[in-house]
Amino acid sequence: MNSNTLDILAFGAHADDVEIGMGGTIAKYASKGKKIGICDLTKAELSSNGTVEIRKEEARKAAELLGVSCRETLDLPDRGLYYKSEYIAKIAELIRKYRPALVFAPYFEDRHPDHGNCARLVEEAVFSAGIKKFETENRYTPYKVENMYFYMINGFHQPDFLIDISSFMNQKTASLEAYKSQFTRSADSFETPLVNGYIGIVQAREGLFGKQAGVQYAEGFKVNKPLLLNRDLFGEGL
Ligand SMILES: [Zn+2]
Repeated sequence: MNSNTLDILAFGAHADDVEIGMGGTIAKYASKGKKIGICDLTKAELSSNGTVEIRKEEARKAAELLGVSCRETLDLPDRGLYYKSEYIAKIAELIRKYRPALVFAPYFEDRHPDHGNCARLVEEAVFSAGIKKFETENRYTPYKVENMYFYMINGFHQPDFLIDISSFMNQKTASLEAYKSQFTRSADSFETPLVNGYIGIVQAREGLFGKQAGVQYAEGFKVNKPLLLNRDLFGEGL
């Protein structure tokens, strides 16, 4: 029996990061009954469009559309995700609280520095969460995450592995469309790349990833250590 509170805990710097990078994978595993959580490190209070309140409601709706069990916001400062031990401790505490089998974070290489900083903070926290004498405010039991993977937000990198999301692309798109303030241009929108066909660009990227594996759509992921095959070289169970 799986004793983890969550199967997957996916971190992002801002609400919508996780949906952009791995919304299809989340919808896929939620449909299989896996328990999935999302944690946004900031309230995205410096977003060019939308307000904290609007974004909070959009994030709630997007999570519901993907079948996510819980969504947390850590309230770390937007554009201030620096290497601070107190931030690492807060993230480690959340990992100990939810005990996820798998943790996801953005890939380090991304044009937005917050995404790379989020990756580094979460990687540190994953390590610290498993250390017995590492102290956090609430005394949850130390916990070692089984694996950590990285999804892509703005970047297009050669993936280390792909997840087929062909049957879940519509759900992913709907979750992105829930962020009206971010991806829909209106009369008072501030001009950003997000309001200029961003969802279509994400769909095109997942189409190209899918093409690499001979499926319609896929999401690409990076790893920080080699993957251990859990099937033998002929695709049979070990
Ligand atoms: Zn972001």
